[in-house]
Amino acid sequence: MSVVRLPVVSSTSPPPAARAHPAAIVDGDPRDALVDRFARRVSYLRLSLTDRCNYRCTYCMPDDAAFRPRADLLTFEEIVDVLGVFAELGVRRVRLTGGEPTVRNGVVDLVARVAAVPGIDEVVMTSNGHRLPELAAPLATAGLRAVNVSIDTLDPARFAAVTRRGDLARVVDGIDAAIAAGLEVKLNAVALGDLNGDEITALCAFAWARGIVVRFIEHMPMSGGALFDADREVTAAAIRAAVEAAFGPLRPSPPRAGAPRGPARYWHLAADPGREVGIISAMTEHFCDDCNRLRVTATGELHACLGHDDAISLRDVLRAGGGRAGLVDAIAASVGAKRAGHDFQRSGGGGPSKHMVMMGG
Ligand code: SAM
Ligand code: SF4
Repeated sequence: MSVVRLPVVSSTSPPPAARAHPAAIVDGDPRDALVDRFARRVSYLRLSLTDRCNYRCTYCMPDDAAFRPRADLLTFEEIVDVLGVFAELGVRRVRLTGGEPTVRNGVVDLVARVAAVPGIDEVVMTSNGHRLPELAAPLATAGLRAVNVSIDTLDPARFAAVTRRGDLARVVDGIDAAIAAGLEVKLNAVALGDLNGDEITALCAFAWARGIVVRFIEHMPMSGGALFDADREVTAAAIRAAVEAAFGPLRPSPPRAGAPRGPARYWHLAADPGREVGIISAMTEHFCDDCNRLRVTATGELHACLGHDDAISLRDVLRAGGGRAGLVDAIAASVGAKRAGHDFQRSGGGGPSKHMVMMGG
């Protein structure tokens, strides 16, 4: 059996059982490079376009977070090269995120270029919605299929406080512009007791009035735990209980045929299956066994897991002239070292030192 060359790597805290992936990429089906040692097949990539953001959400980043110099970001050409290799290995779906992806200069052009990468079937985005009033239609025309928009509260004062500089009215306009542009829209809300613990049902009603779904996200201890406070936690069970108290019993929604697996679990009202709520419960109801994703940061660091600092720099591989073969090796090594799951603890420990805004949420 051939041995996969280890790539040029930059890694913070290597995982204990890190190893190169078996040499299937040399001897067998290239797509086997994306099967990890727990038999999980990666089919989905989250790609951060920038670590910058026009908001400063208190649970995501400190107000004074330092951003990386622009020269450190993957260029459009590098993004297309990296995606081409992922597509060759079997990735079909890309989620563009950040930071705030819509603040990357030329984002509409970039979406068109990503959508044109052979093998990439679906390009979707996660956004804070602030720029969607202007950008939703051009992004849809460029090939974006769907957008998840973050909206944690429907109270303008709370919204301004949690985002530090956000504008709720613009985000609502952005959501409506995205729906009008034909994008599939979902809403994301990080569930925090003092932020929106009393708005769970209002956020459901807001989404359902638009025929869309809201997903509540349990807060995860990124940033070395500095932004995490277990006392603010709203558990998945508490979210379901709040919805049931207001709207009646929930039933688990069956996975949609052909829909990609993801960390969100969905429930619908027993009385109205069209009214669904999603919950992303990293803390209280783990989902790592089903993980099918990798993350590439705006500076090209490949993270096999959001919950760990381990990373391999695809940008360094590219800029050292490693080309396609170097990228394949680096990706295979990262997948081969993918950990069983995150180690988030409710004490705030166990997570990465990086802020979510840097990692690409
Ligand atoms: N700026 C875009 C946005 O806000 O949707 C995309 C990037 S943001 C990092 C992606 C998602 O991560 C958002 O829904 C945000 O609310 C969520 N998020 C940020 N920090 C988080 C944390 N520590 N735990 C859980 N979710 C978090
Ligand atoms: Fe920016 Fe999104 Fe983080 Fe808020 S959650 S600071 S909008 S990256």
